[in-house]
Amino acid sequence: MHHPDDGIRAGALERARDRFADGAQFVAGRLTRGTSGRSHTVVDPATGDGILTYDLAGAADVDAAVAAARAALPGWSRATPGERSDALHRLAAVLAGRAEEFALAESLQCGKPLKLSREFDVPGTVDNTAFFAGAARHLQGQSAGEYSGDHTSYVRREPVGVVGSIAPWNYPLQMAAWKILPAVAAGNTIVLKPAELTPLTSLMFAQAATDAGLPDGVVNVVSGTGPEAGEHLVGHPGVAMVSFTGSTAVGRRVAGTAASGLRRLHLELGGKAPFVVFDDADLEAAVHGAVAGALINTGQDCTAATRAYVQRPLYEEFVAATAGLMAGVRLGDPFAPDTDLGPLVSHAQRDRVAAFVDRARSHARVVTGGGAPGGALERGAYYRPTLIADAAQDSEIVQAEIFGPVLAVLPFDGDDEGVRLANDTPYGLAASAWTRDVYRAQRATREIAAGCVWVNDHIPIISEMPHGGYKASGSGKDMSAYSFEEYTQVKHVMFDNTAVARKDWHRTVHGDR
Ligand code: NAD
Repeated sequence: MHHPDDGIRAGALERARDRFADGAQFVAGRLTRGTSGRSHTVVDPATGDGILTYDLAGAADVDAAVAAARAALPGWSRATPGERSDALHRLAAVLAGRAEEFALAESLQCGKPLKLSREFDVPGTVDNTAFFAGAARHLQGQSAGEYSGDHTSYVRREPVGVVGSIAPWNYPLQMAAWKILPAVAAGNTIVLKPAELTPLTSLMFAQAATDAGLPDGVVNVVSGTGPEAGEHLVGHPGVAMVSFTGSTAVGRRVAGTAASGLRRLHLELGGKAPFVVFDDADLEAAVHGAVAGALINTGQDCTAATRAYVQRPLYEEFVAATAGLMAGVRLGDPFAPDTDLGPLVSHAQRDRVAAFVDRARSHARVVTGGGAPGGALERGAYYRPTLIADAAQDSEIVQAEIFGPVLAVLPFDGDDEGVRLANDTPYGLAASAWTRDVYRAQRATREIAAGCVWVNDHIPIISEMPHGGYKASGSGKDMSAYSFEEYTQVKHVMFDNTAVARKDWHRTVHGDR
């Protein structure tokens, strides 16, 4: 067990309780209490202890948040791009100034090692904010022209309206940023529902937006359950667009509701990323990449490496080296400086992961891991890094999203087979190819059906580049200027230039030339 500095946890806990003493709903620029009549306790998954109990949002709280967002829409959508950009630059500065507070709160509610929150979640969020501050001034329609000869046409790119967003618990801060930033940069206002397990940093982000001078009601957060607050938000007549990140099963349900209300829909769903190692690959790089790619955020990453396909000549060596490296990964308290891997987000998620592994035992080889650690970590939602070899391609462990520190590894023979197996799940979010042969790499990037394909790496993301799925992993993009395609609509404006009362085309309706 790696011991934390208990003072860090105690301080983070105390500040979280103080911060949300007035409630965990952020509506029209201030914190209020939920009125559902039910409460939820945010639990520290490293210890199982409660962090704080808050009143969950009910339908009336969602209504209030949507009303606040609608009220803020005319002013915010008419602000100049420069004004919106200035506000987001100020937000980036406020976030950067509070970086450590965000890192501590994120680690507390998710169980993420502090080094991951400090070096990935928080700086990524600050950078995303700075990116959208710049991008807010680069929203473009197509240039104007006299396409008909008699008219001037141009395209206006306009906000959609009030966005209702739903986010998962794995990267609560980054998901809040990915949802809020492109929406508000483009002139929309938003109501975000974070996962009920992890609302803290989404609320802190909304508070930071207000402190940076974004007008009240531009960013609202309702903390409630999916079936109650989530469904009400998705079906709300005041919401013009639904943006959902979460599992494919819930996404399907959300899509049904949004479709029947004819709302614009953006879906970022589950993944089952393949990791394809060709026989000319740098084996050491592939092994390090597989361990980092599979275990990041304790495997609770929609792009995590989950299926390694290794060409037969390298297979046994890859299995042994990956298992060796995994076994040395240091499980521990998220606040201890030498911890590599924290717990899963909840005991329920740990038990779900354990059940997947247990069901695989009858037909596959658990090379390392495959259980929870004992001793000082017993109270937390920990699970050992797990490598499973020789599972069948059509088995559950290879096909289903597990969302835990579990990597399946399978052999393949020819290049055709490697690419075919990589594509053989319903998902298509991310993938990687490991090879030193440029033609193999080109082919893999062309033929693997996924929204992102890395070559000789797996996981890095960057604000300038889009993130989003193919196939059952969803449609639409987060991050980058491509996200504006979701959060804006284009309007064709057409001016008559002739000033003629009786226009030539009128004869197709009445009279002769
Ligand atoms: P989840 O689908 O269980 O929940 C996601 C959100 O939906 C939560 O806020 C939840 O409260 C809400 N929700 C649940 N039922 C709802 C309903 N009926 N109506 C409206 N909202 C409802 O997912 P999770 O367990 O929180 O997160 C893990 C999943 O998220 C994984 O499948 C993962 O791949 C996915 N994910 C995808 C991306 C991506 O960019 N594609 C990013 C992160 C996570």
